[in-house]
Amino acid sequence: MKKYQQLINGALVDSHSNQFIEVENPYTGEIMAHAPQGDEVDAQLALDAAQNAQDAWAAQPAIVRAQALKKMANVIRENRIELANILASEQAKVLPLAQIEIDFTADYFDYYAGWARIYEGEIIQSDRPKENMLLFRQPMGVVVGICPWNFPFFVMARKVAPALLTGNTIVIKPSSETPATTLEFAKHVAGLDLPAGIVNFTSGRGSTLGEKLVRSPITAMVTLTGSVEAGTRIIEGTAENITKCSLELGGKAPAIVCADADLDLAVKAVVASRVIFSGQVCNCAERLYVENSIADEFTEKLVAAMKAVTYDSPFADPAPDMSCQVSHSQLEKIEAMVDLARKEGAEVLCGGKRPDMKTGYFYAPTVLGNCKQDFDVVRNEVFGPVLPVLTFNDLDEAIALANDCEFGLTSSIYTANINKAFEAINRLKFGETYVNRENFEAMQGFHAGWRKSGIGGADGKHGLYEYLQTHVAYIQY
Ligand code: NAD
Repeated sequence: MKKYQQLINGALVDSHSNQFIEVENPYTGEIMAHAPQGDEVDAQLALDAAQNAQDAWAAQPAIVRAQALKKMANVIRENRIELANILASEQAKVLPLAQIEIDFTADYFDYYAGWARIYEGEIIQSDRPKENMLLFRQPMGVVVGICPWNFPFFVMARKVAPALLTGNTIVIKPSSETPATTLEFAKHVAGLDLPAGIVNFTSGRGSTLGEKLVRSPITAMVTLTGSVEAGTRIIEGTAENITKCSLELGGKAPAIVCADADLDLAVKAVVASRVIFSGQVCNCAERLYVENSIADEFTEKLVAAMKAVTYDSPFADPAPDMSCQVSHSQLEKIEAMVDLARKEGAEVLCGGKRPDMKTGYFYAPTVLGNCKQDFDVVRNEVFGPVLPVLTFNDLDEAIALANDCEFGLTSSIYTANINKAFEAINRLKFGETYVNRENFEAMQGFHAGWRKSGIGGADGKHGLYEYLQTHVAYIQY
């Protein structure tokens, strides 16, 4: 069994408490690794290291800082197979998807390294003669990055890459459910000969280590990817020192299928979006609205496709479409939501139970018919392979139903009519809309939720600028 350490101030260290968190392989139920259970002392050491390193790091040209990102990309590629195996084991992500996450993460570091010669300040017209106004973009200082369990490796890079490139230093806290891949990476980063303290990997619970990182006056910015509940705690914690926070939280993505859509394409894309990583993706299609005139035909095709979804060990060959849920508590949560939907009047068209498997926290791909907008399963994030189906009469009704939601992360529409597509894009109140394709964002886009789905965002130019603050100089000559 692997025993991991934290990376603080350039050195691999145990936690101050010398306590460990057991990392479970959710498919086998075995404990696959021990991760440090860092506490407030570890948090302080990591913050001090990041603070001490920050001025010298910011003083380096961006092109020099970019070298650190390139080294990280390279070390990921050199260890891509082992990292994917750990990722697949610690969270039951099917191996091909785990490999995509690892390879995408390496590309992500390279992508932001490329911004070194691109991001810039501004020259502003002055109201006075013989005066220049210069707007500089400067780093925030020490950034705290808090990661979720569902894409632990990629989300880590989403925070480390833009933070370091722009001259910040960073303290990362992975989820205590899935810290192994990140801490394996930390071991490799320790060997990269980077300036001590620019990137620190801690490990521990949100309620102890996490709270200390968030509430410290050293912390200039907190970037969290996680649940609305954690986001609320982060807002409370950062209020103390008026610390900037960027929050990427939950979703409840609607998928709208119009009668004129290519129905086979829509079925394929909706099912892929719903079952990828066993439904545990923030931008997955979480509720489906189908135009009344095609509702029976479409639902029949959908149920057939969901029944055909394969599930097995994350390492099975050929790879299944999905594996099991990340934990027993996630499985119980999904089960409770489907049971409640049944009581509210939903009809289980397929699935609706734990399948007969020897091992793993499996829930069968499920379609729920006869759903109403006020059902819990239509309003709250399931984060599992469960799709409630509702119907609509016209586009106005579909858009109104889609927008009637506390979350505003992603949305999708399937139609062959470009006018309907643009009408929907202009009226859907979500950070992203996908037309005739499954939900999945690009690194050069901007992933940002409306309403309870978050504040700020990640990726591309706008994601980079989240890690910068402005400084205007007025120069008379
Ligand atoms: P979670 O909120 O339980 O945990 C996220 C992280 O926050 C963990 O590292 C946890 O330890 C930490 N944390 C919790 N309370 C804290 C506190 N008081 N102080 C500091 N840190 C604290 O979320 P999760 O279950 O790991 O992830 C699933 C959720 O993340 C889902 O809701 C999903 O939609 C969301 N998510 C959103 C995006 C996005 O881009 N919007 C991406 C991935 C996941």
